[in-house]
Amino acid sequence: MPRGARVPDVGVQVVVIGGGPVGLLAAVLLAGRGVDVGVLERRRERSTRPKAIGVHAPGVRALSEAGALAELEAAGTRIAGGEVSVAGRRLGRLRFAEASAVLSVPQHLVEAALERRLAELAPSALRRGAEVVDVTQTERGVRVFLSEGEEVSARYAIVADGVRSGLRARLGVSWRRRRGSARYAMVDLAGPGDEFARLHFEAGGVVESLPLPGGRRWVTHLADRDPGVPLGAAEFAAIVAGRIGVRLEGVPAPSAFLASQHVAGRFVVGRVVLAGDAAHEVSPIGGQGMSLGFLDALALADLLPTALAAPGGRAATAAFARYERTRRRAAVRACRRAGFNMAMGGPARGIRLALRNTAVRLLAVRPARAVLARVFTMRGL
Ligand SMILES: Cc1cc2nc3c(=O)[nH]c(=O)nc-3n(C[C@H](O)[C@H](O)[C@H](O)COP(=O)(O)OP(=O)(O)OC[C@H]3O[C@@H](n4cnc5c(N)ncnc54)[C@H](O)[C@@H]3O)c2cc1C
Repeated sequence: MPRGARVPDVGVQVVVIGGGPVGLLAAVLLAGRGVDVGVLERRRERSTRPKAIGVHAPGVRALSEAGALAELEAAGTRIAGGEVSVAGRRLGRLRFAEASAVLSVPQHLVEAALERRLAELAPSALRRGAEVVDVTQTERGVRVFLSEGEEVSARYAIVADGVRSGLRARLGVSWRRRRGSARYAMVDLAGPGDEFARLHFEAGGVVESLPLPGGRRWVTHLADRDPGVPLGAAEFAAIVAGRIGVRLEGVPAPSAFLASQHVAGRFVVGRVVLAGDAAHEVSPIGGQGMSLGFLDALALADLLPTALAAPGGRAATAAFARYERTRRRAAVRACRRAGFNMAMGGPARGIRLALRNTAVRLLAVRPARAVLARVFTMRGL
């Protein structure tokens, strides 16, 4: 249906574009504060493709505020600390403080819990099968256009449509590349496990193994392997065995992915705000992208009720400016930290390998542990 034709116009105070974890969390928090919110999600069904598993301490607090934590703690498992080894030698073990433990739970379960919570607070807020193609600003709000020709009006819009955000480009927001890019592969393997993440720094590249409910996730750097050739289970198992001598049994088809990093040039465009992966792509190595987005959602749950109460007022203007400044800074910092992780985990030879191994060894000594704890708890983000 052409724009301008007669279309039903549904009005809400805040419309969230994208019902991934960040959009859903923002909607739950806003609904909990009495805001009339709608979520437009193009997928008819939730994807169960393996993505995030690690929810760091600030993300755990956000899920608790949303009333979704108890269910997720029951479904997940705790990562109580990390173990580091270099060139086959175990350097040591870092145990997180109780309040800083990482919750390991598959992303689709997080989304399911938030969706249930939203249904309790605002039963008809989530609309699936609703693909947004454009968003425009009016003097008093925004107009959101769906692919079916329908239109939704709202006072404010949150764009949380993920890393490939189509709306970011439509809003004229640039997507700036940050340092750090590498190829990895991962598999989720059922079996016995413990509460420790293990990072093995080897000449061929890092191998990580992370606790999952009922098993472990294995991640390997793919080094110089040709990305055009599909990676099979046997080759994945051979990479792990070759680097750390662990023989994995019953490996499923691995997922290979390119980890890269970007930050949006702007987070606020008039009455539209960007949040989550639409605003920042942080490498999954270090696994903090979703929790970073949860912090955006928490900030928006404070900001938008203020703006709704006194639109255009000084408090609202200052709150938007603060969101732009603080969330951009956090994203840039998160990219810097993840970029460092990736650089440490790359393949290395000769002098570079020696320097890298020394740097990892230094990270395991007592003074540097405070730095590591800061990174693991996402302090400063
Ligand atoms: C392999 C891998 C491992 C990861 N591990 C971790 C981890 O351990 N910890 C961590 O914190 N993070 C991790 N991440 C990052 C995490 O998955 C993302 O940060 C998270 O998905 C971001 O959530 P989001 O809601 O911003 O975006 P998304 O999850 O991408 O959700 C966006 C939603 O918007 C919808 N959408 C898109 N376009 C439109 C449109 N036009 N109209 C309507 N709806 C639309 C999509 O269908 C989707 O549902 C990992 C990522 C990967 C790839």
